[in-house]
Amino acid sequence: MKIRISQIIRMVLTMVWVFLTVIGWLYPFSVEQVQADDQTPPSTEEFLEPVFPMTTVEPDQELEGQTPLYNVPLALNPHDHFYFARPIAFDSNTAPSRDFGYGFYYPEETEVHTGVDIGSPMYKPVLAAGDGQVVFTGFGLMNGGGDINDPYGLAILIRHSFSYEDKTIYTVYAHLDSSEVEKGQIVKMGEEIGKIGLTGNTSGPHVHFEVRIEDSKGGRVQNPELWMAPPVGSGVLAGSLKSTFGYFLSAQKLWLKSLDTGFKYEITTYAPVKHIYADDYFKENFVIGDIPGGEYEISMIYKNKWFRYNLTIAPGTVNFVSFEGMNGFKTGLTSTTNEEDFLQ
Ligand SMILES: [Zn+2]
Repeated sequence: MKIRISQIIRMVLTMVWVFLTVIGWLYPFSVEQVQADDQTPPSTEEFLEPVFPMTTVEPDQELEGQTPLYNVPLALNPHDHFYFARPIAFDSNTAPSRDFGYGFYYPEETEVHTGVDIGSPMYKPVLAAGDGQVVFTGFGLMNGGGDINDPYGLAILIRHSFSYEDKTIYTVYAHLDSSEVEKGQIVKMGEEIGKIGLTGNTSGPHVHFEVRIEDSKGGRVQNPELWMAPPVGSGVLAGSLKSTFGYFLSAQKLWLKSLDTGFKYEITTYAPVKHIYADDYFKENFVIGDIPGGEYEISMIYKNKWFRYNLTIAPGTVNFVSFEGMNGFKTGLTSTTNEEDFLQ
């Protein structure tokens, strides 16, 4: 009798094993990524009036071999807010480094990158990204007291003469060799305020550029790539990458490949931090700026499976894509993003 029961149990277990194996086989195929044809842009349930009048998309000037930047302010869509020019002269490289973007972090350190780094030769001019007033210049932006070892090095903080949804906007320019402005000075967009240097926590000459909302101390930084007008013909891609259960995927690698040129961007989503680091509307956890308009394939690996999705980058605006675990990619904003999603 005992032998029979154990045989039955073994048979049942075998059947369960076979059943699970078959399900396991079928499952990955059943969730194969669907190329959705839904290309609807983010919902525009309310038109938020920018402080600026809408601008026409006209390049400032034509320089040989250089793609000019769109004039600011630029807001082709209600939630765009390209209010800033680049902090570097137009005839230089003005693209932020992709190797250490906004929201990146070194796992062995606790510091998250709160701005973008734009590489430049030493002593090149650093320019005010918008009209405003200098509220700080010198060492000690983070630590105070003129600390010569401050991570920002010699830095400038500008409070701008315009706002966004009644919120004050500040920009930071760090690691300078010299500052050419004084506290209280009024500056115009494009005005030289200092020179590129190597002060503070930096491994090479560049300007660290930061956008701070409301809080001059940086409690509500945002991704500058959502605030600086792109080069003419280029757009910006913002995205939110979440697990199947709606949690943000931090430090997740993804790729964006041009279907026209084959050029490939590699990007990592933001470090595990709270939503103060994301845009109020997009609630993104990655941004790629300066992307020439056209057709692209976005891809990533999630749970050992490749997900691929085709999308269009429209120039002069923020394009948006979301990923929700086994549901894959889709364009348009998700409706379920809330504060709890950011708590990890
Ligand atoms: Zn930096």
